[in-house]
Amino acid sequence: MWRSGTVAVAAVAMVLAGTSAVQAGGGGRFTPGAAGAGDPYFPDSGNGGYDVKDYDLSFAYDPATGAITATARIRAEATQDLSSFDLDFLGPLVVDGVEVDGPARWRREGAQELIVTPRKGIVKGRTFTTTVAYHGVPQRIDDPALGTSGWIATSDGVMALNQPFGAATYYPVNDTPKDKATYSVTVTAPSDLTVLANGEKTREKTSRGRTTVTWRMRQPMASELAMLTIGKYNVTRGRTEAGVPSVTAVDTALDTGQGAGFFATTNTVTDWMQRTWGRYPFGSTGGIVDNVGVGYALETQGRSVYDIGTPGRLPSTGTIAHELAHQWFGDSVTPALWKDIWLNEGWATYNDWLYAEATGGRTAQAAFDAAYARAATNPSWQTVMGDPGRDGIYDWSSYTRGAMTLHVLRTTIGDAAFYRLGRAWVSRHEGGVVSTADFRALAEKVSGKDLDALFTTWVYTPGKPAL
Ligand SMILES: [Zn+2]
Repeated sequence: MWRSGTVAVAAVAMVLAGTSAVQAGGGGRFTPGAAGAGDPYFPDSGNGGYDVKDYDLSFAYDPATGAITATARIRAEATQDLSSFDLDFLGPLVVDGVEVDGPARWRREGAQELIVTPRKGIVKGRTFTTTVAYHGVPQRIDDPALGTSGWIATSDGVMALNQPFGAATYYPVNDTPKDKATYSVTVTAPSDLTVLANGEKTREKTSRGRTTVTWRMRQPMASELAMLTIGKYNVTRGRTEAGVPSVTAVDTALDTGQGAGFFATTNTVTDWMQRTWGRYPFGSTGGIVDNVGVGYALETQGRSVYDIGTPGRLPSTGTIAHELAHQWFGDSVTPALWKDIWLNEGWATYNDWLYAEATGGRTAQAAFDAAYARAATNPSWQTVMGDPGRDGIYDWSSYTRGAMTLHVLRTTIGDAAFYRLGRAWVSRHEGGVVSTADFRALAEKVSGKDLDALFTTWVYTPGKPAL
C-alpha cells in the first residue's frame, strides 16, 4: 500500500495527520493500550494491548547523508478491545504516514510514544497490520550508565545494536523482551556495501548499482536482540561440523586474514554448546567483527557482534563462548524483566568458565575462587543481583556473581542434576520469557532440593556470601 519516497505518500500522510473527526471504537468497550510494558527500569519502553507477531522492515539507505527512507509493517494481535495503541519510536525520525489496515490517525507524545488510532476499534483476538512510513537520519543513544545503543554510524556504514532500548532509534517497535516476534529486514544500499542482519538471507537483487537484500529471522526475537549492519565486510559462509549453517563477517579494514580462524572458532564453540545444552535454537550461527566503538560484544540473535578496534585482532575464545552461550541463555530463553538479567549474564559468563574447563584451560572452580577472592569490602558485593537497578544491569554482579551463583548451585545439586537443569531450562522455555522464580522452581524440581537459602543469599541479599 505505501510506497515510500513518492509524492503520493507525502500527500496522503498530511491528510492522515490532519484527520481528527473519526471516533474509534464504540460505547466505551474499546480502550487505549498501555503506554508501557510494566518494567520499572524502563517504564516507557514497550506497550500494552497487543502482541506483535511479525515485523517486516524495509530501509533504503543513503551512505552520503546517513539517511534512511523506511517502511515498517507490523502484524499484531489485539490482547484487549483496542481503541488506540502505542509504538515506541524516537526522534528525529519523521513519520510520513500510518495505516492500520486502512487509514488511521496518529500523533507523537513525549520522547518515544507514537500513538496510533485506527478508524475503528480492534476487537480482542483480531490480527491487524500497522504500516508506518518514515524517514530521516537515525540517532544513537549514549546513556551515561548503559553505554551506546541504537543506530550507530561507523566509518563505512552503520551498525544497529539495540540492547537494552536502542530499537526505537530506527523502527517503530513494542520495545519489551516480553513481546517477541519474527522479523524480515530488507535493505537497499549501494552494491559495494554488504548488509547483514539476524537469521538467514532470503533474497538478494542488484539493479543499477544498488542491491536489495532481505534477511529473515524465523524464530521469535526480542527487539533488544535485533541487529542490522551495512558496511564493508569479508563474509565466510558454511556449516559447523554438526551441520548448523554459519555466516561470519570481518570488517575489511580490520581483516588481515583472521576470518578463517574466527569462522572455525565460532563453529567449534557452537557445536560444543549444542552437545552441552541441546540443539542450537536458531536457523544459523555466526558472528560479526566490526569497529563500532561501543566497547562491547553483543549477543544479537543468531549472529553476535564483536566490537574490535585493532586490525588483525579477534575476540577471545572466552568472549565467543560467552556470546554463543547467550543464544540459548538470553536469546532463546529471555528474562521478561530487566531485573532478571543475571539469568543471561550469569549463564553466559559461566559458559565461558565451562568452555575453558572443557578445553584444558582454567577450571570453573579456579575461576570461582579467583572471583570469590574479591575483598568483602569491595562495593560490588553490595548490589542485589536479582534487582540491580536500572543503571546496574551491566554491573559485575550480573556477570560474575551470576556465574558464581550457578557454580554454587552446581556444587550443591551435583553435576548430573546441574546439566539436566540447564538442558531442561532451555528446552522448556525455548523462544519464551522467564523469571528468576521460574528458574528456582525448575532447579528445585530437577534436583529435588530446597534451594531457598542459596537463592536468598546469592540472588537477593547484598554482601559477600559465606561459603
Ligand atoms: Zn553477555
